[in-house]
Amino acid sequence: MPLAEFRYASGHKVHAGDKGRVYPPKGYVGGGGVIYVLRAAIHGPDANLWGALKVASDDLNVTLQVNSFDTGTHSPNSRHYAGLAADINKMGDKRSTWQQVTMNNRFAVEFVDLFLAAGWRIGEGDPTRAGILLGPPHSRWNPTGIDHTTHLHLSIARFRPGEMPPGFEGERLDTHC
Ligand SMILES: [Zn+2]
Repeated sequence: MPLAEFRYASGHKVHAGDKGRVYPPKGYVGGGGVIYVLRAAIHGPDANLWGALKVASDDLNVTLQVNSFDTGTHSPNSRHYAGLAADINKMGDKRSTWQQVTMNNRFAVEFVDLFLAAGWRIGEGDPTRAGILLGPPHSRWNPTGIDHTTHLHLSIARFRPGEMPPGFEGERLDTHC
């Protein structure tokens, strides 16, 4: 499935409680990407967020670490709490040489470019858009006032365009990371 197909929530959660090297699972050969999870997800990431991470990591042959899916402290009503966002804090060609995710990590830059080409948008604030945030406040890939110097926030949309329930209060750009 092309990356763009993973932009919207499926409502189905995967990998609750899993940590360490989650992709590829032990005994399986993956497509080049490797995903570590530092803190086990409580309810698990949405299957489409997980799918997007797998496809992108395979495409770029990158080894990455997700620091948080639905754990930790985020803004109220953050997509994290719905399993729709991942914070990625390490990226490299392998675990022994991966580096902190910043705007200067070339794997992170390639990652951002890949997702933008697949329809993700910088920032959040629209529940029908998949979002990315990376970098210091009010910088190229981070229009918010919330610091993302050391991690990449990747989210998928809560709803498909036209399917947002009536009465759903829009997200505010500065409060969702
Ligand atoms: Zn985040």
